[in-house]
Amino acid sequence: MSIHILPSQISDQIAAGEVVERPASVVKELIENALDAEATHIEVRIEKGGTSLIEIRDDGSGMSREDATKCILRHATSKIQKIEDLFQIQSFGFRGEALAAIAAVSRLELITKTNQAKTGTRVQVIGGKKPDISETAANDGTIIRIKDLFFTTPARRAYLRTEETESRAILREIQHFALSHHEKSFILFQDEKQKAHFPSTKTLQDRIQQVLKIGSETLVSISGRANNARISGFVSTSGHCLASRRSQFLFVNGRAIEDRSIAFAVREAYVQSAGIEKHLHPAFVLFLEIDPILVDVNVHPRKLEVKFSEPAEIFSLVKKSVTSSLSKASTPSYSPQTMYTGSIQKSSGRPAVSEFSKFNFQERNQTRQHTVPTPPSSFPEIDSDAPMKLIGQIANRYIAAESDDGMYLFDQHALHERQRFEQFWNEWKTSKQKIQKLLTPVSLKFPEEVISLLYEHRSILTHLGFAVTFSQDDTLTLSEVPQIFVKEELKSVFENLITYLQNEQIGESASDILMRKLIEYKSCRGAVKFGDKLHASEMQKLLEDFATTGWRNLCPHGRPNHIFLPFQTLNQEFHR
Ligand code: ADP
Ligand code: MG
Repeated sequence: MSIHILPSQISDQIAAGEVVERPASVVKELIENALDAEATHIEVRIEKGGTSLIEIRDDGSGMSREDATKCILRHATSKIQKIEDLFQIQSFGFRGEALAAIAAVSRLELITKTNQAKTGTRVQVIGGKKPDISETAANDGTIIRIKDLFFTTPARRAYLRTEETESRAILREIQHFALSHHEKSFILFQDEKQKAHFPSTKTLQDRIQQVLKIGSETLVSISGRANNARISGFVSTSGHCLASRRSQFLFVNGRAIEDRSIAFAVREAYVQSAGIEKHLHPAFVLFLEIDPILVDVNVHPRKLEVKFSEPAEIFSLVKKSVTSSLSKASTPSYSPQTMYTGSIQKSSGRPAVSEFSKFNFQERNQTRQHTVPTPPSSFPEIDSDAPMKLIGQIANRYIAAESDDGMYLFDQHALHERQRFEQFWNEWKTSKQKIQKLLTPVSLKFPEEVISLLYEHRSILTHLGFAVTFSQDDTLTLSEVPQIFVKEELKSVFENLITYLQNEQIGESASDILMRKLIEYKSCRGAVKFGDKLHASEMQKLLEDFATTGWRNLCPHGRPNHIFLPFQTLNQEFHR
């Protein structure tokens, strides 16, 4: 094979793959251009998730005829001239790649006019071929229409997710820009319906209320400073946490970034100050300003991640600032009952308990009166065939037991969780995924976007064994459910399902993974807690089940559930 240089049409298409991954990345590039052109009003229209149309109108500077002709060429940019400029970039774009890349994989039409010009210019490009340039009447500013994105690269097109998912990603992009530019107006039409309208606001706080659709009383302002970094923004009060991460926005030096470790630092602050529940997430809009030298500024336009060169310092800055703001914000009238509100309400009451723990719970209450003061050695022997002899409970957290070979120390929660997991998983697998018809159907109400997410994944729901009907008022009704879920826990099961659908990349064939997650959740919630006082019969039952579930030493989250000390080791330790 001989080496040859690729024709520019092909190399542009390859480059396009790097810049334009999905419709949302096109929207991002085009909005950045509009902002660079100092637009104050940006209007976005999309059809079919952006695959059939993306149109962006701005009232920015526009382009002269000469510039309009050049802007769709590769490495055409007005933003840097020399290499030093790279280190002082004020604008978003600078690679001069986006328009060329987009033009290579779509039918692009651009209409633009500067306020000095009398007439505007129209540029049309089909799949990166020779542009067609003409004169046209136009308003000041720029309109770009992208039709049939990826029509030249069907493989890329096939890789796109559903229209709803792509539309959601576009909305998220617009929310990013709206939050980082509250003084600008944004409007989004999706399939001719207005989907979002963010008129310019005086303050960031007003904008956050607009975008997150929450009241000012639910926001706490954050500010903090470390050696080389500064943080500002808002977080939700501990009473307004949600079952999804969708209301979390982080900007590093002005760019929207997805960073799990920062989200984790924020969450840690809530865990410490408010004891937030496992499946809930605070809302936040945070701006980190970091000395650019300490951030691996991604010159890659599509990347949403950053590398901090001092991650621990950033982590502690975030956590400290949020903690201190939360503590200032908490009022004396704070009550745990009002803690979890927000668009997804925590279902009331204790989690549903399994038959086993219900039984034991009752028994525990009965026996407690008689046996609490009795020392462990006098607990009744429940089953003399038990593979292990119970020694007793330590600090309401650990269970000690002995076998012929040595001594066991169990983490009671992890142990029970693991057993419940095995039990439910086997039930799910072996009973061939039994479905239970509900005598009275259960209705659950969720916010509109959650309902549309569930609707989008309705085939997965069916596959999991849920018979769901959707109604107009954002309610879904369940008439059949997998047998392993009892009626009372359906609300929290669905909240979990929603969280996974929102946060994970769920493919169409992912129902097994999802069921595993739901079962993990169910296993954890109903399990005895670290700190629960247990009766001997409960501990004995746990030990028996431990033997029958194959002595597995992991809880579903991967933590060990026991430590084993063989007599051999003990003998060595005691020099015997
Ligand atoms: P970059 O933004 O990296 O320079 P692009 O391919 O995104 O590269 O855009 C190329 C050039 O086209 C920009 O540098 C700018 O001069 C011009 N341009 C693009 N979009 C607009 C717009 N909406 N308004 C005015 N000028 C624009
Ligand atoms: Mg650009």
